[in-house]
Amino acid sequence: MTQKLYENDSYIKEFTATVTSVEEDDGKFLITLDKTAFFPEGGGQAPDKGEIKGIPVLDVQERGDEVVHTLATSISLGEEVKGVIDWPLRFSRMQNHCAEHILSGVIHKFFGYNNVGFHMNDSLITFDVDGPLTAEDVEKVEKEANRAVFENAPISVLYPTAEEFENIECRSKIELNEGVRLIKVEGFDTCACCAPHPKGAGEIGLIKVVNFFPNKGGTRIEMLAGALALADYSYLHLAAKAIMKQLSAKREELAQSVAKLGDDLAVARGEIKKLSEKLAAASLKTEHTERAVIGFTPDADFNALRNIANGLTGEKEYVALFSQNGEDNYNYLIATKSGDVRELVKALNAEFSGKGGGKPDCAQGKLTATSPDTITEFIKTKL
Ligand SMILES: [Zn+2]
Repeated sequence: MTQKLYENDSYIKEFTATVTSVEEDDGKFLITLDKTAFFPEGGGQAPDKGEIKGIPVLDVQERGDEVVHTLATSISLGEEVKGVIDWPLRFSRMQNHCAEHILSGVIHKFFGYNNVGFHMNDSLITFDVDGPLTAEDVEKVEKEANRAVFENAPISVLYPTAEEFENIECRSKIELNEGVRLIKVEGFDTCACCAPHPKGAGEIGLIKVVNFFPNKGGTRIEMLAGALALADYSYLHLAAKAIMKQLSAKREELAQSVAKLGDDLAVARGEIKKLSEKLAAASLKTEHTERAVIGFTPDADFNALRNIANGLTGEKEYVALFSQNGEDNYNYLIATKSGDVRELVKALNAEFSGKGGGKPDCAQGKLTATSPDTITEFIKTKL
């Protein structure tokens, strides 16, 4: 049985232990020690990283009452070895896991919702609660959770007896079994958990909800705390400063300035569209046959072709418009006021490796031709 040092002291960064078993497994080595400060994967938290005798620890898993460390190279049975935890990573996980407890505890206290899912990686923590939350609710919860930080609420590990457990208000719906481990954040939350936590909420630093959205009838919350929240703030701060500089905007005007930029852009795009259509109409070169107007204009999209066609449909039975987009590539739009364009479109596609179609009165597509004349001559044979 491995003595789990992390259960009663979350702050052990280095320790000395004796190797109690070594087992080869697919080119790697599974090692147990008489005691360890390496937290194995569990309770939604990834296993600790670090080194044993200078060898990187690849994985840590619980197997029965043993903690199994996976190493790339072997060490000797009975050897006394030094273990070193990747402390910045572990501490960040402690900050974030504990922040999740506090947020869940506050949500439970305010709204009675239960935590129904928890996922933690080293860049984002997500958890699910079984009820809806508004933006105001989330703001209120976040504020209350940070009060735990500002007041440095004490955090303790409890192993209650059955009698003691009766009188403990515990968020997790658990049956008391032998050795249940509770994490209590004084005044904010008590919940069963196997992971290491800090001894005071002040160590968590900022608790920030970065996103939330409805999920399966409840709410999914994405959060960051401590070192992760600081890194996120630094990133967003730099991005905001760069945008403020580019827009010559003050921080309190930032959102408005970006919104205005979007509006200005929409107006400018509208103007460009109108001008492009005017240009396409002005550049149009047409040839009239008995039944059709055949026109060519450069760089017009289908909307522009449609607008031009609308102005020409009164002139002949058919309007066939082409816009050269690229060397031998053309957009086409064929319209008719009383006939059916589908036969012509089918023939055009077949002759000029085209693609497209539409309704009897109007169709559009793309084709490839060596010159406008070849297209015009072909249409004359058909109409
Ligand atoms: Zn937990």
